[in-house]
Amino acid sequence: MPPKDKETVSGQGCKPPVTVYLGLGSNMGDSRANLQRAVALLDLHPEIKVERVSPFLETAPVGYLEQPHFLNGVLQATTTLSPQALLAAAQSIENRLGRKRTVRWGPRTIDIDILLYGDLVLKSADLTIPHPRMQERAFVLQPLALLAPELRLPGCLETVGALAQKLAHPAAEK
Ligand code: ADP
Ligand code: MG
Repeated sequence: MPPKDKETVSGQGCKPPVTVYLGLGSNMGDSRANLQRAVALLDLHPEIKVERVSPFLETAPVGYLEQPHFLNGVLQATTTLSPQALLAAAQSIENRLGRKRTVRWGPRTIDIDILLYGDLVLKSADLTIPHPRMQERAFVLQPLALLAPELRLPGCLETVGALAQKLAHPAAEK
């Protein structure tokens, strides 16, 4: 057999990993344990490697106010999954940790959102990246700013650190 072209061999099945940021939230049960389990399960996925995790911050609910406070965090990971496959992996972990979808923005054992996927901008029926409301949400920007203050959202001049500082109600670290 003739030797294989080098590029074909090294290119087979090897996608370059993309840096992603995921938002985590919980306000049911043992929230800290739920966030830690979500981090561990994400890292167990063969195509997700968790690199860094922010401190967890206690935050007041947004949207639907009659519910307990949240514990929120953000993680940085690298992945070879497509955005859709990453969403599916996140949702399967939400289900595994007992997430029931009842009230929109209501209480949940765990919420895992894709905040950023490299510098991709995507709008499809079930997936919007960057996460549509992240710029105005202190519970996303504050932990993200602790992890990556110099990061910029695609097409945004201000850093995540500067955006976080502009938000009125600072969350207390727990
Ligand atoms: P929320 O996170 O806004 O409180 P849910 O977790 O119930 O709400 O998600 C509702 C839907 O949001 C999901 O079914 C998913 O298809 C969609 N969605 C759109 N963009 C994203 C994203 N970047 N990350 C996670 N879910 C997203
Ligand atoms: Mg969500």
